[in-house]
Amino acid sequence: MFLLEKLEQYAGTDRIALLYQGQSVSYRTLFRQAEAFAAYLLDRFGDDDAPVLIYGHKELVIPACMFGAIKAGHSYIPVDTTFPPERVAQILEQAVPCLTVNLTERELPAQQAIDEAALADILAKYDGKFDCVDRIADQHTVYTLFTSGTTGKPKGVQITAKNIAAFIDGVAPWFDCGLTEGVFLNEISYSFDVSVCALYYALSRGMTLYTIDKQTLNDPKALFTALRESKIDFWVSTPSLAEFCVRSEQFCEALLPNTKKFVFCGEVLTKKLASEMLTRFPHAEILNAYGPTEATVLVTAVTVDEALCSDSRSIPIGYPFANLRAVIAAPDGTELPDGQEGELLLLGDCVSPGYLHRADLNERAFFTDAKTGMRGYHTGDLCKIENGLIYYLGRMDGQVKLNGFRVELEDVESNLLRVENIARAAVVPVFEDGKTVSLTAFVCLQSPDGLSSLARAKKVKTALSAALPSYMIPRKIVAMDDFPVNTNGKVDKKALSALA
Ligand code: AMP
Repeated sequence: MFLLEKLEQYAGTDRIALLYQGQSVSYRTLFRQAEAFAAYLLDRFGDDDAPVLIYGHKELVIPACMFGAIKAGHSYIPVDTTFPPERVAQILEQAVPCLTVNLTERELPAQQAIDEAALADILAKYDGKFDCVDRIADQHTVYTLFTSGTTGKPKGVQITAKNIAAFIDGVAPWFDCGLTEGVFLNEISYSFDVSVCALYYALSRGMTLYTIDKQTLNDPKALFTALRESKIDFWVSTPSLAEFCVRSEQFCEALLPNTKKFVFCGEVLTKKLASEMLTRFPHAEILNAYGPTEATVLVTAVTVDEALCSDSRSIPIGYPFANLRAVIAAPDGTELPDGQEGELLLLGDCVSPGYLHRADLNERAFFTDAKTGMRGYHTGDLCKIENGLIYYLGRMDGQVKLNGFRVELEDVESNLLRVENIARAAVVPVFEDGKTVSLTAFVCLQSPDGLSSLARAKKVKTALSAALPSYMIPRKIVAMDDFPVNTNGKVDKKALSALA
């Protein structure tokens, strides 16, 4: 696999691969640790190629575990600590990993698990013991990322070596800024696919990942101190992080004098933020990029300039990458001409082979084009194409983006129904400037609970937090006697949205 080959090129050097809280890992160490972990997996599991689940946040050893797993012919499943143990248990049940690397203090119902200390012993014991060729082939799954699913349980998107190669090929001309070394921002949790930009694009170019964790992101003073010392050349994040940063006047070229490129993706980039970024970073290039996890990170991009910001339309999500076919389709699947609105379909080598063990979902979401044999994906995004540029107009289902996190409203609703005394639940997004800023849950109780609204909200949120990542918990919980219904007799979500 190309990343492993590239890593090997730098393996003899002390070039810094990872930087985190003043500690660093060189390419030499990263490569040795990956090989040691691979040797351990081969010794312990032989030809069993079941996945390796890695539960943690931004620990410096995680990339070595990922690359070690793929060297030994396994795939990996990165699960961030924002996922509570109950949610991890659902992933374990679906994925049945041969091994769980648990870097947290939390208990997991995993059959075969090792903790941080055991991992350190393994890396020491198997250091220098890898003596095989890499076992990864094009069609092998490299990682499975679990994302919000409509049933109340997460679903696993499988990504192969071929998918990643297509992503790297497609993104290369857009990301190029003449850098071979340099510092790349690494703030996105490894369980979200935008982190693949750091892990696969940046590391394959010998760059240094400047790692910022959740705690630092939540503390403005610590965040700005980290940014000031980072010397970041290349920034990739959701617009939400930049929106948070621009609240401070410090966030400008003087803070990040080296930054040549800002890539925003994962959610709508507003014109307000784009203009602000152009003003504050006049020498940097600003890209708006788009892609679903199912089509491997990013599939379109555009350089944002003053002309796009002053256009009456929203900022486009970009031009399709050279190796992608993007089609706007009517509900019956026929291709629509330029200017017409319809679902965006993506076709190319970047499209995932499907969700793990979910034939039911795969049939609806993925397809193979009869004429070309290309793999395709139904994005569920309402879009139009004008002059080759794709414009995003909104979702066609109950999926929302909240601070860049993908949330299925039905996932939250299903989990609310598991909370004691809740008979019915409806969740709606709350918008500000056309962007989802929070969720409001409306619930009908099975029987009166005698609690104040505040006490009830606290109780429900506590129950939910055992099952859902914190970013999926509704900010407001509103109890109602009954839900409004529309003319079809369905819960009137529009009326509830108006109330929210
Ligand atoms: P995820 O799989 O978590 O990356 O989410 C993919 C979804 O995020 C897409 O299907 C879109 O709905 C949304 N999305 C991603 N990038 C953008 C963007 N640049 N502008 C608007 N929406 C985006």
